[in-house]
Amino acid sequence: MKLLSSVYDTVVNRNPGEKEFHQATREVLESLEPVAKRYPEYGKAGIFDRIVEPERQIIFRVPWVDDSGRVQVNRGYRVQFNSAIGPYKGGLRFHPSVNLGIIKFLGFEQIFKNALTTLPMGGGKGGSDFDPKGKSDGEVMRFCQSFMFELARHIGPDTDVPAGDIGVGSREIGYMFGMYRKIGNQYTGVLTGKGLDYGGSLVRIEATGYGLCYFMEEAMNAKGKSFEGSTVVISGSGNVAIYAAEKAMQLGGKVVALSDSNGYIYDKDGIDLDTIKRIKETDRGRIRDYMKHRPHAEFSEDFKGIWSIPCDIALPCATQNELDQRDAEILVLNGCFAVGEGANMPSTPGAVEVFLKNRVIFGPAKAANAGGVATSGLEMSQNSMRLSWGFEEVDTRLKEIMRNIYRNVSQTAREFGNPDNLAMGANIAGFMKVARAMLAQGII
Ligand code: NDP
Repeated sequence: MKLLSSVYDTVVNRNPGEKEFHQATREVLESLEPVAKRYPEYGKAGIFDRIVEPERQIIFRVPWVDDSGRVQVNRGYRVQFNSAIGPYKGGLRFHPSVNLGIIKFLGFEQIFKNALTTLPMGGGKGGSDFDPKGKSDGEVMRFCQSFMFELARHIGPDTDVPAGDIGVGSREIGYMFGMYRKIGNQYTGVLTGKGLDYGGSLVRIEATGYGLCYFMEEAMNAKGKSFEGSTVVISGSGNVAIYAAEKAMQLGGKVVALSDSNGYIYDKDGIDLDTIKRIKETDRGRIRDYMKHRPHAEFSEDFKGIWSIPCDIALPCATQNELDQRDAEILVLNGCFAVGEGANMPSTPGAVEVFLKNRVIFGPAKAANAGGVATSGLEMSQNSMRLSWGFEEVDTRLKEIMRNIYRNVSQTAREFGNPDNLAMGANIAGFMKVARAMLAQGII
């Protein structure tokens, strides 16, 4: 009988239909079994039961007027999951697929990820089923203002500090920050991912993708491998994917494929990243537009087909459950030796099992993509001190944080008898920090 199965049963019964949330809690609870055995005091203090229940869940109406004068209504969410080690911290996702279960899975994962950074940040996440794609700047602005009009009463620089995620980049953060500032008549670092002219941090845009590569380089070096001379496939073509590609190339890798929800491009000579940045960051275009600039490349409408391209290193950087067991088997068959999760929970449990069984170097999201929130933490520090560090300084701190996360995670995995299982190491190391803080603070 597993010690934590009743905790999982309660999660399923209490949160019906929230399948991503069930998936995320199950994965964590399974790897915490040895912790529950070794530290019975955590069970006695109800730490496991409490950590799977958000401290607060806020759901609100977001009305706005579109360009044709019609009233539109979306739903907004903020899940404040755990504040034992610092103010709630986690991004906002604007995507039509957003629902409470997705926000809860993301908020739950964020608790452990933030603990791994060693910075004082609790876990939270939010967002809306609003789709910024195809909307005018005016529509996006009116939506963001309405969203923030409600969210503002629940957040603050010492309470809850949101950031970006899918569909929320510097444009959206700017509109939301403007509204927050107007409502509160206060200039505080209440959001991260801000523009450089109004309190943002250098390297924040690059941080998640760069951090992913720093983490994977550490993990690969430990096994005598590296980006140098390797072929790399990256899914997605948003913020995380673009800067993972940039760093992978700087470290000597050849990135041959990128995707979006409409398909993927394959450029066997290596992707031209300036063209991608122009298409995605400046024109807000689609990945297939790459063909106009590089006609020798190939475009395929099958988004998942990207995993059948032979590669040494795969970096899933789009969304949850985008890489399943079959994709994992194909990657392994093609000789892929490392997988680093830039997205949150991109690999299904079946895929992770394939990677671990085949001794693929597997960088789990909670550890491998923590560079974004870590740099958000550095943005908060700079805002509090009212100064800004240079690019080199932030980048050096980011590199150091990712190296420490790798060391902590791999040492924890070793300590619990499973040295190659970095997923287990990340879950346990992140959990232990939060659990100690919860234990010290009593039953609240
Ligand atoms: P962006 O919105 O910048 O880019 C998302 C990319 O993923 C786009 O190419 C998008 O394609 C694709 N995508 C999104 N949803 C789907 C879907 N359902 N099916 C197929 N493709 C999809 O987001 P980010 O790059 O910021 O985020 C990507 C991932 O990284 C997410 O899992 C996020 O939670 C995670 N993450 C982000 C961090 C950050 O700092 N931004 C930090 C840590 C994790 P399309 O344009 O067609 O929708």
